[in-house]
Amino acid sequence: MGFATDAIHAGQIPDPTTGAVITPLYLTSTYAQHELGKSTGYEYGRTHNLTRQALERNIATLEKGKYGIAFASGLAATHALMSLVKAGDHIIISSNVYGGTYRLYELNLTNYGLEYTWVDTSNTTNIEYAIRKNTKMIFVETPTNPMLILTDLKAVAEIAKKNNLITVCDNTFMSPYFQNPLELGIDIILHSTTKYLNGHSDMIGGILVTNNEKYHERLRYIQNAAGGVPSPFDCWLVLRSTKTLAVRMKQHEENAKAFAEFLLKSGAAKKVIYPGLKDHPQHELAKKQMRGFGGMVSADFGTIEKAKKVLNNVKIFTLAESLGGVESLICHPASMTHASVPKEEREKYGFTDALVRFSVGIEDVEDLIKDVEQALK
Ligand SMILES: *Cc1c(COP(=O)(O)O)cnc(C)c1O
Repeated sequence: MGFATDAIHAGQIPDPTTGAVITPLYLTSTYAQHELGKSTGYEYGRTHNLTRQALERNIATLEKGKYGIAFASGLAATHALMSLVKAGDHIIISSNVYGGTYRLYELNLTNYGLEYTWVDTSNTTNIEYAIRKNTKMIFVETPTNPMLILTDLKAVAEIAKKNNLITVCDNTFMSPYFQNPLELGIDIILHSTTKYLNGHSDMIGGILVTNNEKYHERLRYIQNAAGGVPSPFDCWLVLRSTKTLAVRMKQHEENAKAFAEFLLKSGAAKKVIYPGLKDHPQHELAKKQMRGFGGMVSADFGTIEKAKKVLNNVKIFTLAESLGGVESLICHPASMTHASVPKEEREKYGFTDALVRFSVGIEDVEDLIKDVEQALK
């Protein structure tokens, strides 16, 4: 099936009782059992929920995967991944990942004997150099937040196969509409469903997708054993939203392209970062491993003063963390999403205090452009 067809139908079964076309919201903590030792297959809400199951099947299908395992947040899913390794194991991770990923792994889980090496995975040779005897996993995010640096997923998968390592890709920025890491040989995909998958800025959630039976079994076990499950209502909201993922992503991209070109051509920003621009250092790789360039644009305004002028004076863009919703958001990564990443670390890869990140929504793009123009006046 095509993507839009799957987005609308995969994992959805009309309700057997009434024929309701939309998967019902199963609000229950427990299920009646037929007789002692004989249940319907549904026993307890943490372990089984049909609304959650429908969502897991829907997103797994969109990611060309067999199994989806949903969590209460993207970070709960990020945390669950560590159930695949144990104390003494070493993980190689992209240096420019989501700030919360850095906070969880480097500032918390190192206390439990896990070792992390943060490398610039945009050059995959760095990954090979970082491999040790105890390396178990490679975790990459591509494109990264907020610098939109890409990692060659096929190359990562090849290195991992040679060294028997688990590969994980955080695919939140592209959504399955633009990028399918499993098809490039990656083992597990991570999404914050809070972002594009839900797309309406009204819930928090996460999901892991894999084709690997063994990883699925372990992650499914941890979903229940640690209990970081999403509420049925949040699952229902995402399921409602993936139906329009294809049309939303098309519009996000069309607007982001026009917006990035405006920033570049008008000279409003000193530097514009968008994988769809020909001057993006990895534009060729972007064309090869993605089917589009997404809706995120970052721009360096040269000075913190000019960046502040934009951040404080826009009227349609809302100053807020998060991304991927239908409404446009603007943020200052250095003090907001990435406040826990040390300044020296950031500036190594050109992530300055003058950097502004735009999550370009699906409003009329002319209004978004005018908004930045008036903010700069
Ligand atoms: C938001 C985000 C996360 C974390 O997800 P939450 O749902 O906020 O816990 C992880 N990775 C990326 C790329 C994100 O943007």
